[in-house]
Amino acid sequence: MKKTNLKALSLQELQYFFRAEGLPAFRTKQLIHWVYERRVEDLGSISEYAKALREKLAGPAYIGNLVLLKRLTSADGTEKYLWELEDGQSIESVLIPDDDRLTLCISSQAGCALKCAFCLTGTLGFVRNLAAHEIVDQVIAASRLMDPRQITNIVLMGMGEPLMNFDNVVEALRRLTEWVKISPRRITLSTAGVAPRIHELAQKGPAVNLAVSLNATTNEIRDRIMPINKTYPIEQLLAACRAFPLPPRRRITFEYVLLKGVNDTDDDARRLTVLLKGIPAKINLIPFNPFPGAPFERPDDSRVLAFQQILVDRKLTALIRKSKGQDILAACGQLKAESS
Ligand code: SAH
Repeated sequence: MKKTNLKALSLQELQYFFRAEGLPAFRTKQLIHWVYERRVEDLGSISEYAKALREKLAGPAYIGNLVLLKRLTSADGTEKYLWELEDGQSIESVLIPDDDRLTLCISSQAGCALKCAFCLTGTLGFVRNLAAHEIVDQVIAASRLMDPRQITNIVLMGMGEPLMNFDNVVEALRRLTEWVKISPRRITLSTAGVAPRIHELAQKGPAVNLAVSLNATTNEIRDRIMPINKTYPIEQLLAACRAFPLPPRRRITFEYVLLKGVNDTDDDARRLTVLLKGIPAKINLIPFNPFPGAPFERPDDSRVLAFQQILVDRKLTALIRKSKGQDILAACGQLKAESS
């Protein structure tokens, strides 16, 4: 009989599993504490369980772990991890140290179906959705590597479109907030703009931060660089953002990849301020990170600064995202999960 990975089970499934083994409910609670907060790698390390209980569970069950295939460290301190999943597929996560923060960027899918023209992950095509535990396990495994330093922030900005793997992502967010005990305020989900799912996230998920990859100010250009815009055009996307319930003082982050001669003109900057009117927003300007064969160029620094200035003059918060980890292809849009 195939053993059950206890990490692959939801709360209900765990309760059912323990009940079927004739074990009382508090054993489930203990397991969750040891697996998600203390991050043990195997049943044998749960010292709160008597030896007999550990052995009894080891018959039908085990605790699965991501396998680290490769760990790359950038000159700027960014690290990229290549993980192997149980079926042999691989995914990447990126750890970004910044002052007192330690942010982990995690993947929600192997590959991605959206084919954004500027993103290397898009060239892979879609491989498969990650299960909830494969999303959470990136946090657990990276936390072990960082110990005793604590990961302070999580961003779902790695491979994949989180809102196209909605149920598993919501379940992963629940486990991260309730079991791993990371505050939802310290988690940010980034979407290429699956508008109806933005509404649904607000209803079903923990109150995490929302980031939206806008990247263009006209449907004509956005259609060209982000095909998902043909399904959910800018007006529909921004209507979903306007309806997204935000706690006081919180804002939606809009990512804007600057592509030379494509979306980086003064007119674009001015249109952007008009589009975002009335939305509590902050803008992350990301000068394009090149990859071999990419059909775009990064604008000059002076263009990036001029674009930012137009936004700032109109009272918008706009930061230029320093792209970290470029030397190890760990920057935005550069994840491909290759082991060579
Ligand atoms: N699919 C989600 C999650 C991925 S986030 C989303 O699109 O939001 C990855 C971020 O990196 C997105 O904001 C995307 O616009 C940006 N990005 C992708 N390729 C890039 C590149 N080559 N240079 C700079 N930013 C890029």
